[in-house]
Amino acid sequence: MIVGAGFAGMWAAQALARAPVEITVIDRRNYHLFQPLLYQVATAALSPGDIAWPIRRMLRRQRNTRVLLAEVTGVDVERRAVSLGEQSIPYDYLILATGVRHDYFGHDDWEASAPGLKELDDATRIRRRILLAFERAECGSDPSAQRRLLTFVIVGGGPTGVELAGAIAELARRALAADFRHIDPKSARILLCEAGERVLPAFPETLSRYAGRALARLGVEVKLKSPVTDCGPWGVTVGTERVEAATVLWAAGVAASPVARWLGIEADRLGRLPVAPDLSVPGLPEVFVAGDVALVSDATGRPLPGVAPAAKQAGAYVARVIAARVAGRPAPPPFRYRDFGNLATIGRRAAVIDFAWLRIKGGIAWWIWGIAHIYFLIGMRNRLIVSLQWLWAYLTFDRGARLITGRECEDRSPADS
Ligand SMILES: Cc1cc2nc3c(=O)[nH]c(=O)nc-3n(C[C@H](O)[C@H](O)[C@H](O)COP(=O)(O)OP(=O)(O)OC[C@H]3O[C@@H](n4cnc5c(N)ncnc54)[C@H](O)[C@@H]3O)c2cc1C
Repeated sequence: MIVGAGFAGMWAAQALARAPVEITVIDRRNYHLFQPLLYQVATAALSPGDIAWPIRRMLRRQRNTRVLLAEVTGVDVERRAVSLGEQSIPYDYLILATGVRHDYFGHDDWEASAPGLKELDDATRIRRRILLAFERAECGSDPSAQRRLLTFVIVGGGPTGVELAGAIAELARRALAADFRHIDPKSARILLCEAGERVLPAFPETLSRYAGRALARLGVEVKLKSPVTDCGPWGVTVGTERVEAATVLWAAGVAASPVARWLGIEADRLGRLPVAPDLSVPGLPEVFVAGDVALVSDATGRPLPGVAPAAKQAGAYVARVIAARVAGRPAPPPFRYRDFGNLATIGRRAAVIDFAWLRIKGGIAWWIWGIAHIYFLIGMRNRLIVSLQWLWAYLTFDRGARLITGRECEDRSPADS
């Protein structure tokens, strides 16, 4: 039984394709999502269908696998069954790979004003907010209300915050620049607030400094050592400064899904579950945890980063452990993450790559970033479509997915009226 068809769950399922096992994959959504490009859906560069694939379609040739669209609500480790509300389904081996959600550090009420980016729905909601802000500013006549509508605050200077800030700046300064008559989209204020001392803190300092300069060139105001202390429909308070902003986006923190609670085991501060070297749950050798929701340390004792390659490798590893047990073979050696490098993009011809043995920034890094992301997309169709869209955007500065969908009233905050 595999719960979650993200990177860890899907890679586990596929690695068990030829094993003599019956697999049930359960996910609460019917698609596998390529989260690294979610920010491009949120900023109208790509459409949702370009970065998501039906789980059922991906596993259709795998005869030993069935797919269930359902939300798991708990695990009964005594009876070895997962609960789907009223229903429960038994398992012999269980892989929990349910990922993380954004975390508001105890201020859950901020979510309504500052949506985070994790699901496709989050991305289309953010896209709606960004595009509606420009539309409402065009309709308005009060300069201070227009100023507020054209102020965008991104909270958190990690890769997602940096990518969002850069992409919104490019949208405002390039793609939308000539499309309005009453407002100048280029005048939009884009503010990136980071509580720490630098953006991209997981990267070496030289690359962080480069990212800060590249953001400044795009016209993004980067505020360092600036924790957000309050947030509401009016905007944010950064330190002691109140910033009136119609669009606030949250890219500051994540917390694991409630796997630890399901198993009755204590999790770390971020809700991740400590696991044994073979990624099983201590005391429950038939239950494995893989991906972002697992707390796994590297050789130096540092927790592994919550990134796609770590999740894929963990999923494939757990599959090997289970296949070995089923076949009565010795267990593979303990899980070791192979880190192939860290990538982040800031905007057109500006990215950073840390391969540990080589650090690259600027245009070359940006091309490598693009090629790597095309390569990791699933299916030739999506690779072709995304390549063409990017080529077109590169040549014309246009963004093809500028659609305001969903209900407008969902995004009308009290401060708009
Ligand atoms: C905006 C964003 C940008 C990112 N950019 C990068 C990047 O550039 N490079 C990189 O390497 N990593 C990036 N990451 C991180 C990377 O996407 C994650 O590390 C990876 O997705 C983790 O894989 P996972 O399988 O653990 O979880 P996920 O991929 O999140 O999958 C979890 C799955 O579990 C399902 N699920 C959850 N709860 C339940 C439940 N109760 N019942 C049934 N199903 C459930 C979900 O629907 C989902 O399909 C990014 C993440 C985000 C959010």
